[in-house]
Amino acid sequence: MSDCIFCHIVSGNIPSNKVYEDDDVLAFHDLHPAAPTHVLIIPKKHIASLSEFPVEEEALAGKLLLRIQQIAKELGLQEEGYRVVNNMGELGGQTVHHIHFHLLGGRSLMWPPG
Ligand code: C5P
Repeated sequence: MSDCIFCHIVSGNIPSNKVYEDDDVLAFHDLHPAAPTHVLIIPKKHIASLSEFPVEEEALAGKLLLRIQQIAKELGLQEEGYRVVNNMGELGGQTVHHIHFHLLGGRSLMWPPG
């Protein structure tokens, strides 16, 4: 998607502070961190949102979840805990229309979110 900022990050046209990369998944530090650790985990393939995640991409969905687990462990978040967030659509607060999971840690997080 030529107008997708995260696709530009995947292709390297826009730089990012990467924490993890494989053939299917990229993780990088959020530009505007909302916690001491704030990483975004995305599929390299353009999928606009959770609602549009193709049913036939079940393996990719599982891989994303397990990479989040791995990255959280590598970043030292496992012991104290962390939060994983996906914002979907307008009311969900999604601003970038390439599915991404926020991994937040390093401080006590409030519930419910605003
Ligand atoms: O879930 P939502 O779509 O609101 O989150 C988008 C996130 O992408 C924001 O936290 C924003 O700071 C981040 N972002 C980024 N680098 C960009 C553009 C957005 O880290 N170039």
